[in-house]
Amino acid sequence: MDKKMQDFLENVRLRTPGEDEFHQAVQEFVESIWDFYIQNPQYQKAAILERMTEPERSLIFRVPWVDDSGKVHVNRGYRVQFNSAIGPYKGGIRFHSNVNLSTLKFLGFEQTFKNSLTSLPMGGGKGGADFNPRGKSDMEIMRFCQSYMAEMFRHIGPDTDIPAGDIGVGQREVGYMFGMYKKLTNEFTGVLTGKGREYGGSLIRPEATGYGVIYFINEILARHNDSISGKTVAISGFGNVAWGTAKKASELGAKVVTISGPDGYVYDPDGISGEKVDFMLQLRASNMDTVKPFAEKFGVQYFPGKKPWEQKVDIAIPCAIQNELDLEDAKMLVANGCKLIAEASNMGLTTDATIYALKHIIFAPGKAVNAGGVSVSGLEMTQNSMRIGWTKEEVDAKLKQIMTNIHETCVKFGEEPDGEINYQKGANISGFVKVAEAMLAQGIV
Ligand code: GLU
Repeated sequence: MDKKMQDFLENVRLRTPGEDEFHQAVQEFVESIWDFYIQNPQYQKAAILERMTEPERSLIFRVPWVDDSGKVHVNRGYRVQFNSAIGPYKGGIRFHSNVNLSTLKFLGFEQTFKNSLTSLPMGGGKGGADFNPRGKSDMEIMRFCQSYMAEMFRHIGPDTDIPAGDIGVGQREVGYMFGMYKKLTNEFTGVLTGKGREYGGSLIRPEATGYGVIYFINEILARHNDSISGKTVAISGFGNVAWGTAKKASELGAKVVTISGPDGYVYDPDGISGEKVDFMLQLRASNMDTVKPFAEKFGVQYFPGKKPWEQKVDIAIPCAIQNELDLEDAKMLVANGCKLIAEASNMGLTTDATIYALKHIIFAPGKAVNAGGVSVSGLEMTQNSMRIGWTKEEVDAKLKQIMTNIHETCVKFGEEPDGEINYQKGANISGFVKVAEAMLAQGIV
């Protein structure tokens, strides 16, 4: 391993003690772009990597709220405004009990390059709180969103920072936050994306991440004169990303045999399609964090405490949370004949699982695979600025084109001497170049 690179990574670790997930994201990124980085001394001279690994701003604040019984609770809220070289900060808000600064820094860091890949003018940011929506009533969720926005509103804006959803934050939460922002600023703007259709949301935004995942996978397979039709697919999670992915995969003739929750997974040999896909939305809305009701309703097998990666499938798509697929899981998938792992979750694979997957099968990283969500957020921003609304077909066609372009740029930067494509390297280098060039042009700021 290059000594200079080792020193760089060690320095990042020393300056940010305890931020394991952030270190993981930085290391994976730096290792894959390092050769390219040292071949371009102008980047080193301007300390591009040193600056890219330090957020422009991290906000941490108190979020007090009152539950239905009148009890007062306090959570910690965050917004990490990571990089604004190519556009205003853009990225989701995550409500999950394991959210901390390290989580949001890893997400904001990755978001910067993901957004760059989309070719739309969006910088990188991420926010959230260590709030667990599980079992909370609608009114409790509303009060929490309002309290979160009561601090956040002064730091964001349609030309400054445009948040959206992520784990634990969907259209309902975006609506509550939007309402509070509007009340506090007296401005109706496109400050958040993922809004309801009636007040400025884009068609296809709910489906966008999952549709983009499948469009990207189809691009990979097309290079091998193949397609997703007829393939068996394992999906984890049962939220927005898993839903959109299952919907498009089944529509295009693939058989999705699993979905999962933190409690275990269900296996449906007939394939999850039609009303079964729709039922995922109800399950999510129940805030119960379990897939058991799915197994009960459709009479399929439920494996409590297990992950779906033990099933024999052609394609595995982690759609839940970071580090959900480890080395053992990757080995099991490969041993059972899996040919492709596509990360729909951000950093869904542990580092050793990624290394293993890169060596043995096709691995596609989250930055590229799940970029469809933020891409349609970018299209929502455009529609809001233009005060128009595109049709479903228009948005879907633009999304498809963006995913095709991302695939093309991954191929351009990720082609190995043997002709194989290293999608991780391709996504990281192409995401990096645009941000680096913009930073060079804007001077030392
Ligand atoms: N949370 C999503 C992501 O990880 C979407 C962000 C957005 O739409 O701004 O990319």
